[in-house]
Amino acid sequence: MTTDATMRAARLHATAPVVEQADVRVETPPPRDVGPAEVLIDVEACGLGALDLAVVTGSVPRRGELPLTLGREAAGTIARVGAEVVDWQPGDRIAVLPEQPCGACGYCRIGRENLCSDVRVSGIDRDGALATQMAVGADRLVPLPPDIAVHEAAIVPDTVGSASHAIKRAGLGEGSILTVFGLGGVGMHLLLLAKLAGAHVIGVDVDAVNLERAVAWGADAVIDASVDDPVLVVAELTDGGGDRAIEVAGSNTAADQAVRSVAPGGRVVLAGRTPQPLTTATIGRLAATEVEIVGSGSPTAQDVGELFDLVEVGHLDLGRSVTETVRLEDVPGTLGRLERRDGHPVRIVVTDLN
Ligand SMILES: [Zn+2]
Repeated sequence: MTTDATMRAARLHATAPVVEQADVRVETPPPRDVGPAEVLIDVEACGLGALDLAVVTGSVPRRGELPLTLGREAAGTIARVGAEVVDWQPGDRIAVLPEQPCGACGYCRIGRENLCSDVRVSGIDRDGALATQMAVGADRLVPLPPDIAVHEAAIVPDTVGSASHAIKRAGLGEGSILTVFGLGGVGMHLLLLAKLAGAHVIGVDVDAVNLERAVAWGADAVIDASVDDPVLVVAELTDGGGDRAIEVAGSNTAADQAVRSVAPGGRVVLAGRTPQPLTTATIGRLAATEVEIVGSGSPTAQDVGELFDLVEVGHLDLGRSVTETVRLEDVPGTLGRLERRDGHPVRIVVTDLN
């Protein structure tokens, strides 16, 4: 079977260092075969985020040729299933995991498929979800709980999932003091999930609207890094340093501050995807204080499934997470606004795809 010949998709034809100068078009792509182990999805919602911008500017490594259908995190309804697919039916409501790992390597076999070296990512290495329909491996779907709105479900596989994965990497517990550096889409969900875990949360950003929103979402304290040195303020607030810090600002400055903000024995999670090298405290100081620095990448299928469970039982409310919805036809202009952070979005989701 093939995809629908009347399909529309937001496609990248040429990258440019500034998003608005890149060639992104909403057009009808050539139909493609849907494999026997794949399903065809009517996409109903797809989030837009910083990694999409990195694809458009060419600053993220990418396998495969242009043009490329953009879009990483999505939710929708199964339209058709391939001949070998037995676990899913047309009409099932699902979210789509962006990564297609190999399924056979050592990492894949122990459930750390986010470390698979042969992974292909939707909207980066292969056609993504900013389209009326999308063909994807049947093993990359997560069922939606009955009551979740589809535009909220769409941001769970990547935005909320990345936050959840970083919290696990931080080893956060009841009463931990966590400093979150960067209060954008992932950072705000770090805040939500850390509060859910019983942690005290200090939020750091340079944007007054983001800081105000973090207070409204339950941050115990916020620091405007354009005014104050977060390392000094965290030390004052915590009597010497926090237990944990997570950096999602995507800047070397924030990563350095995160490392220096934790007390001896603390742990720092670097989750911002930036090509900059890490320059921070001396090796001697890190050795003496036994501060741990760990990375955090993409969420696993297990992370995402657990989040939908939390939504289903009412513990996790994503009602404030999507601050704007736009149509597929508006994607090229919206990418430019997202780069400028016009309107200070938590997450923008494309909803009018069909
Ligand atoms: Zn693998």
